Amino acid sequence: MRTFYVSGAFVPEDQAQVSVLDRGFLFGDAVYEVSTVIGGKLVDNAAHLARLERSLSELRIAPPLPLSDIPALQKELIARNNLKEGVLYLQISRGSADRDFGFPADPKPVLVMFTQARPVLDVPAVKTGISVISLEDWRWKRRDIKSVNLLAPVLAKQAAKDAGVADAWMVEDGVVTDGSSNNAYIVTVDGTIVTRNLGNHILAGITRKAVLALAEEEGLTIEERGFTLDEAYAAAEAFVTSASTFVLPVVEIDGKAVSQGVPGPITQKLRQHYIAFAEATAD
Ligand code: PMP
Repeated sequence: MRTFYVSGAFVPEDQAQVSVLDRGFLFGDAVYEVSTVIGGKLVDNAAHLARLERSLSELRIAPPLPLSDIPALQKELIARNNLKEGVLYLQISRGSADRDFGFPADPKPVLVMFTQARPVLDVPAVKTGISVISLEDWRWKRRDIKSVNLLAPVLAKQAAKDAGVADAWMVEDGVVTDGSSNNAYIVTVDGTIVTRNLGNHILAGITRKAVLALAEEEGLTIEERGFTLDEAYAAAEAFVTSASTFVLPVVEIDGKAVSQGVPGPITQKLRQHYIAFAEATAD
């Protein structure tokens, strides 16, 4: 049985509990991070904790412990679960109090963490690429905050599943914002990588930042701007990035083949570079 971390204690999964009055449960009043583990070590974890700090501060949730204490707890959890490859989920809620929308007078934020073993490096989608459909993005206007309010992505992912594809790209004002749980990119026929510019309308992906830095080192041209679905349909390549999937090729958008229906060379190169970066820096 897995070990979970709940508010200061490592406990067996069947004893890992939070209150029914937890505001994460009642209001989605909580933030989270997902860090990937390869070779038993965390990938780019400091960047995830920096984003966690920002999400907490935007929502005015005081962490229940100094964030600098978290890496040791994460490592302990990975060791206890003997996790070699997979993800570590971390959530901090504003804690429990009688149900009332305003913040409690004396909040007691709750930190929970658990691990999920799953293949990260060697997944079939790397070779085949994935298909996506496009959907209207009706998330709230602070998508830069990694909150657990995930109803829009839940429904988007299910719509994709119902349509027999792997994922959905969300579109607002005629341009692609994010994938349901990843950042979305195209590579134009002249080799330019295009992805939505940062702001409140998308999540600033940790993987996005690293991949764009690697692309720049490669001398590739990057344009951070919104791109339309028509641009995407006509693109030479498309891909998505996230902590748990790294770089994944997209080979079909709304039933239209992109990149002749096979993973493109720039996408594959960026995945290799990201894996090299992850393996070299995992801690
Ligand atoms: N956008 C959205 C909407 C996401 O949910 C995620 C994954 N959490 C990302 C982008 C990718 O972010 P990261 O690379 O930090 O996992």
